Amino acid sequence: MKIAFIGLGNMGGPMALNLHKAGHDVGAFDLSKPACDKLAEGGVRIAADAGTCVLGAEVVISMLPASQHVEALYLGNDKQPGLLPQLAEGALVIDCSTIAAATSRKVADTAKARGLAFIDAPVSGGTGGAIAGTLTFMVGGDTAALERARPILEKMGANIFHAGSVGAGQTAKICNNMLLGILMAGTSEAIALGVANGLDPKVLSEIMRRSSGGNWALEKYNPMPGVMETAPASKGYAGGFGTDLMLKDLGLAQENAAAVKAATPLGGLARNLYAAHSLAGHGGLDFSSIIKMMQKG
Ligand code: NAD
Repeated sequence: MKIAFIGLGNMGGPMALNLHKAGHDVGAFDLSKPACDKLAEGGVRIAADAGTCVLGAEVVISMLPASQHVEALYLGNDKQPGLLPQLAEGALVIDCSTIAAATSRKVADTAKARGLAFIDAPVSGGTGGAIAGTLTFMVGGDTAALERARPILEKMGANIFHAGSVGAGQTAKICNNMLLGILMAGTSEAIALGVANGLDPKVLSEIMRRSSGGNWALEKYNPMPGVMETAPASKGYAGGFGTDLMLKDLGLAQENAAAVKAATPLGGLARNLYAAHSLAGHGGLDFSSIIKMMQKG
C-alpha cells in the first residue's frame, strides 16, 4: 500500500515507522528537519514537501498539532494551496490529529465532493503506545471508509472503535482527554500532599494505584520524577504529550460543552489550571509537569 504520512512529531514519527516496518511503501513529510531526519534514519523515504509526498498515494495520514494545521494542509490558506485537489482519485484520508469535530466535518465534506474518502481517527495511548503500536483509535466516518482503513490502523494500534459519523471520533477523544486532564491534575495534587507530609512518593503512588484512587496516570504516567523510569516526569518532562496540546484539548471540550449546553465544571477548572501552567512558561513540557504547580518552590 502506498501511504503518505504528514506530521512526524512525538506521535506521528513512531506511527509512520511502524507502517514502514509492516512493509508498506511509506513516504513522509514534516516541516521540521530533525523530525524528518529521525525517520530517514529508520529507512523511511522523506518527501521534499507535502504535495510531493501525496503524489500517487492510496492513503494519506496526517498527525498534526491542531485544527488550523489540518485545515491549512487539506483546504489551503493564503500562504499555501490545499492538498485535496492533488490527491489521487479515490484516495483515503485518515486524520489522526486531535482537532475540532467541526473542522473534521469541513475537510470531509470537501474531500467527498472530490470523490475522496475521509475518516477522523484521533488516538489515545501516548508516545509509548505509538512506539509499541498499541494505540487506541476513535474513528468517525462511514463503515466502508473505516474498513478500508482498518488493516492500516491495525499496524499502529491495538484497539479500533467506531464512534459514529465524521467528527464522532473527535468528540470521543475530547471526552477522554478532558477526563485525563482532570485525573492528572488530581493525581498530582494527591502525590504532592503526601510528599508534603513526608511520604515516599513511590510508596504513596503504589498504595493509590492499588486502591480506589487508581487510574492511568498512576499505572503508566506518574507525574513525580523518579517514581516511574519510563514516564516523561523522569526525563525532565521532555517528549510525551505537551502541556499546550492538553490545553488545546481542554479548550475544545469547553467549546463543545458551551455549544451543547453541557455542565463540565471540572473540565473548565482543569483548562484554567493548564492555562496558568502554560503561562508560567511550561507549555512545552509534558502535561504531567502540572505537578510543579502543587509543589513547593
Ligand atoms: P508534536 O508537536 O510532537 O508533532 C506535530 C508535528 O507536526 C511537528 O513535528 C510539526 O513540525 C508538524 N507539523 C505541523 N504543521 C505541519 C505541516 N503543515 N506539515 C507538516 N508537518 C507539520 O505533536 P504530537 O505530540 O505528535 O501530537 C500530534 C497530535 O496528536 C496532536 O493533535 C495531539 O493532540 C495528538 N495526540 C498526542 C498524544 C501524545 O501523547 N503526544 C497522544 C494522543 C494524541
